[in-house]
Amino acid sequence: MTQRIDGVGAAPGLVIGQAVLWRKEQPRVKSRKVENPNREVSRLEEEVLRAKEQLTRLRESARERMGDEEAAIFDAHLAFLDDPAYVGEMKSRILDRRQNAEVICRDVTEEMSQMLASLPDEYMQARADDIRDVGHRLLLLLSGQKPFDPSLIQPGSVVIADELAPSDTAQFPPGIAAMVTARGSKTAHAAIMARTLGIPAVLGLGEDLKRIREGETIIVDGENGSITLHPDPDTLDQSRERIRRKRELWESALKKADQKAVTSDGRRIQVFANIGSPQDVDAALKNGAEGIGLFRTEFLYLENDHWPTEEEQFQAYRQVLESFGDRPVVIRTLDIGGDKDLPYADLPKEENPFLGHRAIRYCLSHPEIFKTQLRALLRAGVHGNLWIMFPMVGNLSEIQQAKSLLEEARKELENQGLHIARNPKTGIMVEVPGAAVIADVLAKEVDFMSIGTNDLTQYTLAADRGNERVASLYDAAHPSVLRLVRQTCDAARREGILVGMCGELAGDPRMTEVLVGLGLDELSMSAGTIPEVKERIRRVQTDEARKLADEVLVQSTPEKVRYLAEKSR
Ligand code: PEP
Ligand code: MG
Repeated sequence: MTQRIDGVGAAPGLVIGQAVLWRKEQPRVKSRKVENPNREVSRLEEEVLRAKEQLTRLRESARERMGDEEAAIFDAHLAFLDDPAYVGEMKSRILDRRQNAEVICRDVTEEMSQMLASLPDEYMQARADDIRDVGHRLLLLLSGQKPFDPSLIQPGSVVIADELAPSDTAQFPPGIAAMVTARGSKTAHAAIMARTLGIPAVLGLGEDLKRIREGETIIVDGENGSITLHPDPDTLDQSRERIRRKRELWESALKKADQKAVTSDGRRIQVFANIGSPQDVDAALKNGAEGIGLFRTEFLYLENDHWPTEEEQFQAYRQVLESFGDRPVVIRTLDIGGDKDLPYADLPKEENPFLGHRAIRYCLSHPEIFKTQLRALLRAGVHGNLWIMFPMVGNLSEIQQAKSLLEEARKELENQGLHIARNPKTGIMVEVPGAAVIADVLAKEVDFMSIGTNDLTQYTLAADRGNERVASLYDAAHPSVLRLVRQTCDAARREGILVGMCGELAGDPRMTEVLVGLGLDELSMSAGTIPEVKERIRRVQTDEARKLADEVLVQSTPEKVRYLAEKSR
């Protein structure tokens, strides 16, 4: 009998495929004494070399298929194999204890991963998973076991796994149809990889994963976050029809990606891209981005082991601004704190980091760090159409202080005789519910506002955006979040300023009509969804969209909102 199981939709797309169980081989470790510990150390060294070769190959294949950022995960793995506290510790224990390398490797890996997991710093906690992954590889090599060979997976298969590490997804052969896991949330590494690879993913199925049998046909709906087991012929036909319609829409969308998005009654909605580094510019342009609606500048800070200098920042901003010519590029000032730690910033531990000293709050109390960024922005602004955006604003005073530091930066540069952007637009992210509530007050002080639904949702619904245990409570389509969106749009319209959205909701094609109806002028999203959202906008009729928006705002649950949004398509 047809059986639907709900999980977390982590990457969109609908497919029908055959289940392949990803068998993570468990190393069989037997303890034994060794006669010649020096020979055992050499054996360990040989396998470490072999592990390094494998990881280097994986890094290159990840770089080719997913870009530098994902490939960097393997640098962390390789670094462990050069770390004296890890491999060095194994060698000295083999010599001291005259025990075989497998046992020592298992114990040292376990101890180090436990130690890392117990640290307060989230970055270090994530390294605990990395070291387990490296240790697992090394153990399989030492015990002469063959790891599961992913290259044998047939195209069109749906990979079923308890959990997928980055080193697993990097080994996916081309043509994998989808992935389904027991653990993981929308922000898990596996989810990010799936979105980058364009593979639909449903994660967090828990114990229900065990109901899936090798080789059976399953339907994976990454958009709705569900899988269907034992589909009957009718269900299969309906899914095939949905897939066909989606493909048609997608093909026509792609052909028109470069054209503007105008509703059927002539309202223009601007569709922009979110980027995380200058490397993302190509994909944004190819998919028809009319500008950048959110350039997250954190990458410059997270990639470095020092505060990035004014010059380093200037080069990165300039590159993006030049690529977009006179089209707007919204660059968001530093948004650290919360879940984004910077080892060299020495951020104090906080009980509630998401409610703590993050983003604009941090920048205003570190004016020199902030002004370095503002100076780089003003200088780079000469090379394009710069809009500066402040994150996590909660009150008027923060905007005034940020603008006064911008003014100081401008004067400093002018005194140095440097050429700078004349009047860049300044705006704020609306991602704190309080800011949405007083959007009418804040709108008087800025040129534009952009709604960050990722944070706005977690704060409005009190559901941590990265916590899979409350994932079912976290939905940006909740009427309470949408009411704040409407309120912000109304305030912007009254003040005659532009209002956009750059949270994930903006890139959800199922909600496009509702968003147009709520009054947004601009939507910014990851590049891959731009063509489809543009195509959806072209099918919207503004009056009907407004009626739909009015109707969703009085619903009691996000499910009802989504049902109405879906029905009207
Ligand atoms: C948001 O909060 O919606 C947003 C776009 O910012 P980030 O995801 O970087 O917190
Ligand atoms: Mg945010």
